[in-house]
Amino acid sequence: MRIDPGHANGDESDRRLEPQKGMDTVTRPRILVVGAGFAGVECVRRLERKLAPDEADVTLVTPVSYQLYLPLLPQVASGVLTPQSIALSLRRSRRYRTRILPGGAIGVDLKAKVCVVRTITDKIVNEPYDYIVLAPGSVTRTFDIPGLTEHAFGMKTLAEAAYVRDHVISQLDLADASEDPAERAARLQFVVVGGGYAGTETAACLQRLTHAAVRRYPRLDPGLIKWHLIDIAPRLMPELGEKLGRSAQEILRRRGIDVSLGVSLDKAGAQEVTFTDGRVVPTRTLIWTAGVVASPLIATLGAETVRGRLLVDPELTVPGQDGVFALGDSAAVPDLAKGQEGAICPPTAQHASRQGKRVAENVIATLRGEPLHPYVHKDLGLVVDLGGKDAVSKPLGVELRGVPAQAVARGYHWSALRTGVAKARVMTNWLLNAAAGDDFVRTGFQARKPARLKDFEFTDSYLTPEQVRARVEGGAVGSQ
Ligand SMILES: Cc1cc2nc3c(=O)[nH]c(=O)nc-3n(C[C@H](O)[C@H](O)[C@H](O)COP(=O)(O)OP(=O)(O)OC[C@H]3O[C@@H](n4cnc5c(N)ncnc54)[C@H](O)[C@@H]3O)c2cc1C
Repeated sequence: MRIDPGHANGDESDRRLEPQKGMDTVTRPRILVVGAGFAGVECVRRLERKLAPDEADVTLVTPVSYQLYLPLLPQVASGVLTPQSIALSLRRSRRYRTRILPGGAIGVDLKAKVCVVRTITDKIVNEPYDYIVLAPGSVTRTFDIPGLTEHAFGMKTLAEAAYVRDHVISQLDLADASEDPAERAARLQFVVVGGGYAGTETAACLQRLTHAAVRRYPRLDPGLIKWHLIDIAPRLMPELGEKLGRSAQEILRRRGIDVSLGVSLDKAGAQEVTFTDGRVVPTRTLIWTAGVVASPLIATLGAETVRGRLLVDPELTVPGQDGVFALGDSAAVPDLAKGQEGAICPPTAQHASRQGKRVAENVIATLRGEPLHPYVHKDLGLVVDLGGKDAVSKPLGVELRGVPAQAVARGYHWSALRTGVAKARVMTNWLLNAAAGDDFVRTGFQARKPARLKDFEFTDSYLTPEQVRARVEGGAVGSQ
């Protein structure tokens, strides 16, 4: 790999990566993209558009057959949107020519250029590549808090959002059915940990759900419903700035959500949680949204990381590794637009999707022996939908509240949905919900399945770097 350090920080970069040495010149180069989220899908769609079919073969490793529009997940949990409306099919168009490999990457041997994949049929296969694009995103960040992984729900997957919705509605049913006042009160208390945008939106949207739903339960006292939102930080959503963060907090307080800052979780049990300030809250619902960490796949590489995210150059290449690109939540991408030494792009969809485009361009440039360009994107701001007419937004630094903020939030998400059919589904859901409200139906589909943090994110399925090497050295390419 030839690096021209003189151009590493500017738009006029003249970095070139030589086409891979030893690559088979008869067969096409193999590009392997890991992860079908904002970053991975944006990358493959651009590769499909810009590469001639005979220029390279593109494979996408993904455990699911859709791209999840995560920012609207709280609206699935609260029933404003159906789960299908934010799951964008990877097979919708016949123009999509990327080969889909259904499964999860469980290790990568960068030296041998092999990705080890556990397929959805539970086979372990070695997938060789010439270029790899690592976009497996992130998982919920947990701490060593007793009972956390056994008792908390996350808000990171479609299944979790659908499950939480059913669970919350079932608490109303169970409270209604109970003759024990203490059990009733416990079932009607809900705790969300994490005052970032994911946790704040989740608490706000679900509180609206319970507030509206309780009217259909004449035996239940609405005054018993209590939502707690706690965060160890002194402010909610610090990225919004002090004034707007305070406005968001005010909206939540007005709606009866108890916001506690400078407080975290001490321990979690099946029937109660204890906060670090000593309060014990009887509850059956603990939702944990206290940040994310890079996918455990990154640790299997044995490469340098920054707080768990894979270290990459501004061109989204991994230093010292041929043909390895990384981006999105799993990579520490330098934030050149910030102009601050050492600044890293925050883990947002806004960055991940734009990095997807840049990485595709840089993979193509590598294939064609052209210069690579660095990733530069100035943050457009943040939109926070608190349900109904409540929202706060900061597009391009302009602080908005209420209906204008809500219009910007919904307009932004709607326009960011990749396909026309997803846009139509989401808009129809919004209109229907505004006109007819929610029926608060508990589907019960998943009622008997375990569904806490530890059951959804499969963080223990990965190999160690040594296991990856042993498997690649010892095993034939292909299935085991
Ligand atoms: C509730 C919530 C609200 C949010 N709201 C906003 C918002 O308003 N604005 C914003 O900009 N960002 C928001 N975000 C953050 C944003 O969703 C992420 O930053 C973004 O999804 C990152 O994109 P990504 O492609 O890196 O990862 P993801 O979109 O998470 O995609 C990763 C993909 O990789 C797959 N994968 C994981 N492991 C493997 C593996 N081992 N092998 C193969 N595939 C794998 C996953 O199934 C997934 O499809 C929100 C996040 C959450 C959870």
